[in-house]
Amino acid sequence: MTLNKQKMKIAVVGAGIFGLSTAYELQNRGHSVSVFEKGIIPNPMASSTDVSKAIRRTSYASNNNVYVNLVEQSALKWKEWESKFTNKIYHQPGTLIISNQFEPKTPLYESWRFLKENDQNEDILILDNAELHTTFPQIKINNDEIAIYDKWGGYIESGLAVKELSILIKSKGVQIYENSEVKGIEESNESAYLYIESDQRHSSSLTKMEFDLIVVASGAWTNALLPNIGSKLTVTLQQMIFVDSSNLSSFVHEKLPVWSMNPIDSKNELISEWYGFPLLREGYIKIANDSRGQIIDPNADRSPNKEFLKNATDFMHERFPLLVESQIVSAKGCVYTNTPDDHFILDWAPTCSRTFVASGGSGHGFKFGPSIGKLVTDVLEHKEDETNGFFKIKNRLNQTHNNDSERGFAIPSH
Ligand SMILES: Cc1cc2nc3c(=O)[nH]c(=O)nc-3n(C[C@H](O)[C@H](O)[C@H](O)COP(=O)(O)OP(=O)(O)OC[C@H]3O[C@@H](n4cnc5c(N)ncnc54)[C@H](O)[C@@H]3O)c2cc1C
Repeated sequence: MTLNKQKMKIAVVGAGIFGLSTAYELQNRGHSVSVFEKGIIPNPMASSTDVSKAIRRTSYASNNNVYVNLVEQSALKWKEWESKFTNKIYHQPGTLIISNQFEPKTPLYESWRFLKENDQNEDILILDNAELHTTFPQIKINNDEIAIYDKWGGYIESGLAVKELSILIKSKGVQIYENSEVKGIEESNESAYLYIESDQRHSSSLTKMEFDLIVVASGAWTNALLPNIGSKLTVTLQQMIFVDSSNLSSFVHEKLPVWSMNPIDSKNELISEWYGFPLLREGYIKIANDSRGQIIDPNADRSPNKEFLKNATDFMHERFPLLVESQIVSAKGCVYTNTPDDHFILDWAPTCSRTFVASGGSGHGFKFGPSIGKLVTDVLEHKEDETNGFFKIKNRLNQTHNNDSERGFAIPSH
């Protein structure tokens, strides 16, 4: 098999949003694509599952140019994809970031400044304390808080979107193998090989398949296939609650955007990072915490712990007084796969010429899904990389991991 030919035979490992969007773009450009997923689609253990993921433009501060361009392109693609899906998956109730700090050189301010300079549709508003009180009476606002509201923002129904995308790309000719775990990768000068274990009626068999290229999009399990990359990523437990109440009429899309509250202490450190969604299709609201949780094995039990449940309940009662009588209908854990600088990895695996890695979603990758597929395919086809190599590995994996306060504002050293 040769590289650089017009039509290549390409394997994608992992059917999360990074893998599926890459498969879709490759298929659209005429390649022959097979996707291998160790579970079902969406895999409940994957990060690209669950009822909702936020799509927003704020908080990218010093890397605004890269991320805002990519998320705006992604939003157009999400809409285009949605038009081919059976279900609506993209909602735009806006995003609201509440903070007690809004000064030059802080992440929120710098994000706002960048967006404002380019805000032709007047989507971005600053809400002062009084406006915040009046517009969102269902939230208890502290006296030192203001907010940035972006009409453009919203959320994607993530698990549903992944399911719909897999159905769409299958109809376009992508071969999808569920319950098929890739156990190993090998390269020769001529080809790349996958060793696949398929669970067929409880008896497992290992099959070797040959491809021109392999894209590893295995999220939190990158370490199992590419330890020289995976060992530098941390997998953290992120927990959330789902809440029902007879008082949810103030939480509908028209009255409440996707929100986050990021109080900052006198040392400029984030105190907590609660965020949540308006009333969802499922009939409940979701409240979660974005601060990096405990480092865990991706296969470990993810049941939420008592401390989190108590903190989440205390937060909810304090900030949403209407929910004092509410019920937590369920709670669960999901994992972030964090690179040291929180920027994704889209690059050839070290020492490999036929194995590419798309991983390190770092808790913010879902919204960029459609752009990830395009960026990966451009590199595989040796086309111009519109980010100028922003997501290449270079020396990024040897840095120490950012803390929560540095996220979004970090400037990678490459
Ligand atoms: C609680 C939580 C909230 C989040 N909120 C947001 C948000 O609001 N906005 C946002 O943009 N992002 C958010 N994210 C981040 C986003 O979900 C991830 O960045 C993104 O989904 C990563 O996608 P992925 O395809 O890289 O990984 P995954 O979705 O994990 O997909 C990897 C897939 O590979 C499969 N796999 C692994 N190993 C193998 C193997 N050897 N063989 C076959 N298959 C394999 C897995 O089963 C899995 O299905 C959130 C994440 C979490 C956990």
